[in-house]
Amino acid sequence: MSKFFNPRLSGLEAYTPGEQPRDRSYIKLNTNESPYPPSKGVRKALDRKRIDGLRLYCDPTATALKEELARVYDKKSSQIFVSNGSDDILNFAFLAFGADGILFPDISYGFYEVFANLHSLPFEKVPLKSDFSIDADDYCKRNKMVVIANPNAPTGMVLPLKKIEKILKANPENVVLIDEAYVDFGGESCADLVDKYPNLLCVQTFSKSRSMAGARLGFAIASEELIADLEKIKYSTNPYDVNALTQAAGVAALQENGYYMRNCRRIIKTRNYAKKALENLGFEVLPSKANFLFAKCGQFTGLELYLLLKEKGILVRHFEKDRIKDFNRITIGSQKEMEAFIAAVEEILGA
Ligand code: PMP
Repeated sequence: MSKFFNPRLSGLEAYTPGEQPRDRSYIKLNTNESPYPPSKGVRKALDRKRIDGLRLYCDPTATALKEELARVYDKKSSQIFVSNGSDDILNFAFLAFGADGILFPDISYGFYEVFANLHSLPFEKVPLKSDFSIDADDYCKRNKMVVIANPNAPTGMVLPLKKIEKILKANPENVVLIDEAYVDFGGESCADLVDKYPNLLCVQTFSKSRSMAGARLGFAIASEELIADLEKIKYSTNPYDVNALTQAAGVAALQENGYYMRNCRRIIKTRNYAKKALENLGFEVLPSKANFLFAKCGQFTGLELYLLLKEKGILVRHFEKDRIKDFNRITIGSQKEMEAFIAAVEEILGA
């Protein structure tokens, strides 16, 4: 740290993204990307004309993109916010709505704590129950902003919409942010509840189900008032945060939504195969509605299994954290990739 660094941030522990090694080719099952490429329309949209257009600033209002999102999700454009990945939306939302403090589960997306610390906001990590489920009652009448990933990460487990409604009703004076990064893989979206609950902020991303992690595109659905607050933060940070290529790719992707939803169904099928195969090998596998499994081997610690798989050219995610040390998070790749993964695990276990 240089002597110039803001002393308020001297203790800040930054988020560690999943590794993206370039030393050899891996079967990458560590960052929840889609195994399937973007749709044909996305390729077409990124044409010569679009590249020539890069000399101009992109549309800060992202009108075409918001209109497409409004069409697909049956909302008004003014209820849609877009940003450079959903991480940016989370960051903006913590800054905008977290002044009373923030509640989130002790085992969840690691960035929540980083954003709270970045903005010096008080926060409380609420322990998941022993089966890794969320107890909605823990988040009721607490007078704090609530942030819940649904499905949760890295567990993949869902909180039913009824429980989310209970939290929304019990906290009318605070924003309840539901991070739906993985909702398209079998979860239930709260997007249709935004007209009923002005405190609900539903956040989604193109990074997982829409095969565009590298394009960086996230969106939020909420009441017009909450969206206007987020716009204020965005226009105080970087009004051009969704670049022209990504806006065009996003519009094209939404016009071929069926392709992506079919891919989600393929991933769910492969997830069911991988879950059964791991269970047959003696793993404990949590019930996942996401594009990953959270699994405990029993014979090896999470770190050992991660290293043994890496030697074999397969990357999974391991978190060296209390309660989940013995687990690994395994992204669902293509059927072929998952068969290779299972074969590698069989070899490691000597099965
Ligand atoms: N929320 C959750 C729960 C995630 O796992 C991720 C991906 N790391 C994100 C949000 C952020 O995704 P992105 O910024 O790529 O939209």
